[in-house]
Amino acid sequence: MRTRFPPSPTGMLHVGGLRTALYNFLLAKQTGGTFILRIEDTDQERSVEGAVENIVKTLRWAGLEPDEGLTGFSTNGNPIEQGDKGPYIQSKRLKLYREYAQKLLQSGHAYSAFDTKEELDRMREEEQRAGNPAPKYDLSVRMRMRNSLTMDGKEVQKKIAASDPYVIRLKVPESRTFIANDEIRGKVEFKSSTVDDTVLLKSDGFPTYHLANVVDDHLMEVDLVLRGEEWLPSLPKHLLLYEAFGWNPPKFAHVPLLLNKGGGKLSKRQGDASASDFIEKGYLPEAMINFLALLGWNPGGTEEIFSLKELIKSFSLERVQKGGAVFDTEKLDWLQGQWMRKIPLEEFAESIRPVVAKQYPAAADDAEFTKKAALIQERVTFFHEAPQMLSYFYEPPTSDTALIANKKQNVTPDLLPTILKFLIDSLSSIPREEWREEVISNVLKSSNIGLFATGSRDTIDLSTCLNKGQYLWPLRAILTGLSYSPGAFEVAEVLGKEETLKRLKKALKTLA
Ligand code: GLU
Repeated sequence: MRTRFPPSPTGMLHVGGLRTALYNFLLAKQTGGTFILRIEDTDQERSVEGAVENIVKTLRWAGLEPDEGLTGFSTNGNPIEQGDKGPYIQSKRLKLYREYAQKLLQSGHAYSAFDTKEELDRMREEEQRAGNPAPKYDLSVRMRMRNSLTMDGKEVQKKIAASDPYVIRLKVPESRTFIANDEIRGKVEFKSSTVDDTVLLKSDGFPTYHLANVVDDHLMEVDLVLRGEEWLPSLPKHLLLYEAFGWNPPKFAHVPLLLNKGGGKLSKRQGDASASDFIEKGYLPEAMINFLALLGWNPGGTEEIFSLKELIKSFSLERVQKGGAVFDTEKLDWLQGQWMRKIPLEEFAESIRPVVAKQYPAAADDAEFTKKAALIQERVTFFHEAPQMLSYFYEPPTSDTALIANKKQNVTPDLLPTILKFLIDSLSSIPREEWREEVISNVLKSSNIGLFATGSRDTIDLSTCLNKGQYLWPLRAILTGLSYSPGAFEVAEVLGKEETLKRLKKALKTLA
């Protein structure tokens, strides 16, 4: 199966575009087929500098490398194209489109139109006055316009010889009903009366999207055209073009729109909708791909975590929904967390090390860094959160009574000296080589009983002991200086005996 992704370089790649690319990629890969990247840059006015580079870079980031078409750039910035059906950049194919437009003129499926802007405006005004709210250049008006259908052949030749500007329009046949099968929507029907005599070749010799798109999909032997729902209204024009050329059309699938949470269309103009914004925010490609796959595709079971490889196996058009898909960033963040946890620890540590080292240079050659990273991997959503989450390892926090004394845990300021002395004494008794989470936990538990329980061996009264929270909270708060952090014992183990005691003693001094 040959599929294609043919973006127009009118801006940074939109997340909806990335999803379209993904679906095309998956369908090609699951049949051992070819995924083609073609650049549709025939609307020169709307082309944006850097957009093509952004498209290539974003697809690469997401792991959706094209097999054919534009595959990259050389070091001096020239496009690299692969495949024998190129060029794959439409602005390099202009001659071809002109030839195909001429073919349609000759076969009577298209005609030349010489109407000026004023004449077109006048037609629209007249139509509106006559009660047509959405006037189009179509079969109802074409016979009163200035075109090769209404003008004398010699006059047409004269105008062309004199280089008068003209466009080539599709001649939509009368009273036809088109029935097409959409792989997602099923049967779709259009009446030719609703289709305009769309411009195929503009007066500057550039093709419009419709002509270039159909010619290329045919010449590049595309089997399936999968694109956004916004292109569904163009389908009858495309089907007409295939028919006019005498070509077999490919299959078509129109994927549902992406909606924002309010139910409106997620548009490029909404700032956040470009894939680059998500890359900059620190989303992992795995999370983004997983999220985009689920936007419109229902995997069927309860499993929601899919790698690109798994998606290639599981994805199917039958399970793509017709209705719009809500772009729910909470779901994206959840998936991001899931994918963070899946990174092998060493790799995770080395990914966050430079980020942490930027703020805390000591992290750069910290031999214990992986242990520290292990403490936060379960909690992190973005790499850029790591410096704050590991801050206390590199910068001893200042003792903050308001944080350390915690009402909810029954830690009152007057109790603090007792608790701190208990912690210092008990922890000091642990030999250095036994300084581990479980030992720390057990020692504190037993010294608590040993120190504070009353009564005798048979009638032991534990009510005079500290609650676990009464020593856990201050220990954690003193060591980290944070209201949320990994648990006290885990942090103490990684900090080491010496540093743990140092912080406790300092806190006792400042609080006393
Ligand atoms: N150039 C069109 C776009 O930017 C391609 C639409 C299609 O896939 O046919 O969306």
